[in-house]
Amino acid sequence: MDIQFNEILRVLEQTYPHAGPELHFSNPYETLVATILAAQCTDARVNQVTPAVFRDFPDAKAMAQTTPEILFPYVKSCGFRSKAVNIVNACKIIAEKYDGAVPSTLEELTALPGVGRKTANVVLAFSFGIPAIPVDTHVFRVSNRLGLADARTVEETERQLMDAIPRELWSPSHHWMILHGRRVCHSQKPDCDHCPLRPYCKAAHLDHMINPKAEAKERARKRKESAAG
Ligand code: SF4
Repeated sequence: MDIQFNEILRVLEQTYPHAGPELHFSNPYETLVATILAAQCTDARVNQVTPAVFRDFPDAKAMAQTTPEILFPYVKSCGFRSKAVNIVNACKIIAEKYDGAVPSTLEELTALPGVGRKTANVVLAFSFGIPAIPVDTHVFRVSNRLGLADARTVEETERQLMDAIPRELWSPSHHWMILHGRRVCHSQKPDCDHCPLRPYCKAAHLDHMINPKAEAKERARKRKESAAG
């Protein structure tokens, strides 16, 4: 692995030694439901609603018996009604096709309603112990700013990180980057002056990578450039 990459991962690990999942779950079904609810919502908010959800719908078969109308009031504070629709529909498939057991491959998981790559990778990593790098908005931003990836899309970022980072560090490094994105490398105003990664960071001196408007403009320019071939 590149020396620079090594240093970045070392500093991240030292800075966030206790990083781990902040969502509360104890089996693949709970992981799936909590992660669907967490899209565009805080983990703390999800943790407030899931105890009642898991009490009244303890597994995928129980969830498959209900309706989005019944589920929605439980999860309303996590946002869109579509989340309730997706959870119920995904559980119907799990109940019918997999006898109630959440499947354990990326292909099967991403075929479920409301389950994208990120959610599927969270389930694989934390419920099945299969190394994965779920790329959310923080991981995407932080890894591309740091230079661990140089990608335009989530899929590209995931692939590049998997190539660059040793397999045993995939899951932990994803937690380190999430915490770094939440605490220091904010989307709007990254705190580069107090960032322990500044000496290694590709973006620290590049306005177009840390100024959100310039960043969006640069991304659009790159998209245009690649579309033109
Ligand atoms: S130096 Fe700035 S852009 Fe780079 S990781 Fe730190 S906060 Fe983010």
